[in-house]
Amino acid sequence: MMNAVFSELREKALAGECLTRDECYRVLTCPDEDLEVLSGEVYRVRYAYKGNRVSVQILTNAKSGNCGQDCAYCAQSAAAKSGVASYPLAPFETLSRNAEIAREKGAGRHCIGLSGMTFTDAQIEELRGYVEKLKAQADTPICCSIGFLTIEQARRLKEAGVDRINHNLNTSRGFYKNICGTHTFERRVENIRMLKSLGFEICCGGIVGMGEGDEDVVDMLLEIRGLEPQAVPINFLTPVKGTPLENADTSKLTPEYCVKVLSLVRLLIPRADIRCAAGREKYIHHRQRFMFNAANSIFAAGYLTTGGQSIDEAIRLILDEGFSYEVE
Ligand code: SF4
Repeated sequence: MMNAVFSELREKALAGECLTRDECYRVLTCPDEDLEVLSGEVYRVRYAYKGNRVSVQILTNAKSGNCGQDCAYCAQSAAAKSGVASYPLAPFETLSRNAEIAREKGAGRHCIGLSGMTFTDAQIEELRGYVEKLKAQADTPICCSIGFLTIEQARRLKEAGVDRINHNLNTSRGFYKNICGTHTFERRVENIRMLKSLGFEICCGGIVGMGEGDEDVVDMLLEIRGLEPQAVPINFLTPVKGTPLENADTSKLTPEYCVKVLSLVRLLIPRADIRCAAGREKYIHHRQRFMFNAANSIFAAGYLTTGGQSIDEAIRLILDEGFSYEVE
């Protein structure tokens, strides 16, 4: 029975059709014993657009902590008592070193994370200078994870060579008030639309496991689909001590549930780079193969404020699961 349902969903995805809400729920709530069938169908969609390759991304936290926003999951919020390092723009040498590692290892992209929601023109100029030098050093694509830019600031970064910008929706429109009181969901959507209008590639994803329901996961993914991002990072909440979500109940994040979420992302946004981001090492466990059947991208060498698998370990994992790793 489920075989027929999942093969129908695969056909819809390959035809570029959007799944109905009901179909989305069926994916998220299917019995674990049906996961193998689901994942096999999802792999066919993944294979059609991304082949058998997994892209490894390296993340540099270029500006950390002391953010005036109050995102409940975030160790970098000034409201959090996480003890996370707080520094303004890191020295160029830090980014340059990571760019070199990215180039040597053949990483698909160098992602640069910057805490904070707004930036002064002087800060953007400094970043722009860094990006120009990094681009001269290696042609690894650069993605900046950055808050709300003015259109002029965004233009300056585009001219410097930033290829892609990460700006996540994080959760559903309806659930957003539960995780942030200092800016709105709509402001994030508007920012992404502005960036798209300037020709940036968009990386837009979210976090699962913050107390939202399946309907919120579906709503978030449908919103993200509507923004037509090139990449969709999915994080599974890793509660950080000192944040409002430090004691969040993450029991829902079984390996099987995480794989169902990633599978749904692939079916809804089939052409995108789907990245299993934070929480991968914590939650996926023995379901790595199913994860790669949906996701074609992972981070290595840690996340913004939490450690992670080394690049060599990530590459070994990819090869062990029968995939190849990618030089974009
Ligand atoms: S997620 Fe971004 S905006 Fe929110 S507190 Fe963290 S750094 Fe600030």
